[in-house]
Amino acid sequence: MNLSRRGFLAFSSMLCGSFLLGNSADAAKGKYATLIDLSKCDGCTNEPIPRCVKACRDYNKERFPEPKKPILPYWPRKTYEDWSDKRDKIDTLTPYNWIFVQKVNIDDKQINIPRRCMHCDNPPCVRECPFGALTKQPEGNSVISDKLCFGGAKCRDVCPWHIPQRQAGVGIYLQILPKYAGGGVMYKCDLCKDRIKNGEEPACVIACRDRLGQNAVFTFGDRNQIYELAQKRAKEEGLYIYGDKQNGGTSTIYISKVPFETIEKALKANKERFQMPVKLENKIESTFNPIGKIALASGVISMLGAAIGAIKSKKSPKEAEDSEK
Ligand code: SF4
Ligand code: SF4
Ligand code: SF4
Repeated sequence: MNLSRRGFLAFSSMLCGSFLLGNSADAAKGKYATLIDLSKCDGCTNEPIPRCVKACRDYNKERFPEPKKPILPYWPRKTYEDWSDKRDKIDTLTPYNWIFVQKVNIDDKQINIPRRCMHCDNPPCVRECPFGALTKQPEGNSVISDKLCFGGAKCRDVCPWHIPQRQAGVGIYLQILPKYAGGGVMYKCDLCKDRIKNGEEPACVIACRDRLGQNAVFTFGDRNQIYELAQKRAKEEGLYIYGDKQNGGTSTIYISKVPFETIEKALKANKERFQMPVKLENKIESTFNPIGKIALASGVISMLGAAIGAIKSKKSPKEAEDSEK
């Protein structure tokens, strides 16, 4: 165990800082949004891999997890999530694939739905992570820190679309609690955080435009303008909108000729792993309890302290906790 008491304190204060920062910006809607026009996406027929998917994988490949093997199961589970031998999988979200093109047939017509993080205005993933590993950025994107994430998957549990995906055998839990907490790091689209901070568009947006030009599926830009554009097109062309109200609003707006209720029904009938529920309220907006969250964070920190003490003294975490009383 290499983590010193000083290291632990630094980690704890980083955790608290990130935790508080993650929640202080939670009401901000953010600067940017993406409009995704389902009537224009053909799923990149005749391409070996959809351009948007390839662009995301190429751009982010340096950040994909390289797990330390053998991967051990962590208490109390007997299994772990390892996608490292399935890196080529492109038809679903994985720690190595942060966008995929979902296909659904409605009235004999295939609809292609690029799926990635919705970047919610008030993201439950940010608010509910006990380690403060997620933050909502001023640009509107929610971002997971691979330095703070323990892989407990709370973010996936509370995400209405179950977007973040876990890879075991990587992350800080290996240094702190390899057997007792977490189990890896969660990965998802961060809206190309470094690019958008520099005023550049996300890689998937550019890749689709390079292929389709004026008919590109994605339009990325100022959030207010994107919302206005979606509403204008919906009104003028009789299109339906998804993402502007769901989960209290998001920075990813879909427009479609087919009602989203119909798409939802078809995805449900197919028992798809990733659904598109239309009636979707933000459950935590009215129930957030900051006192409870602070108590939870303190509990996590003291649990970590006890575990570190245990590892150092080779006692069980419970014994170490008792001996500090
Ligand atoms: S969004 Fe664009 S790049 Fe992605 S599958 Fe559809 S057409 Fe291809
Ligand atoms: S879609 Fe899920 S992972 Fe993305 S910001 Fe919203 S709650 Fe978080
Ligand atoms: S915005 Fe960036 S990280 Fe997100 S899916 Fe597109 S390319 Fe990937």
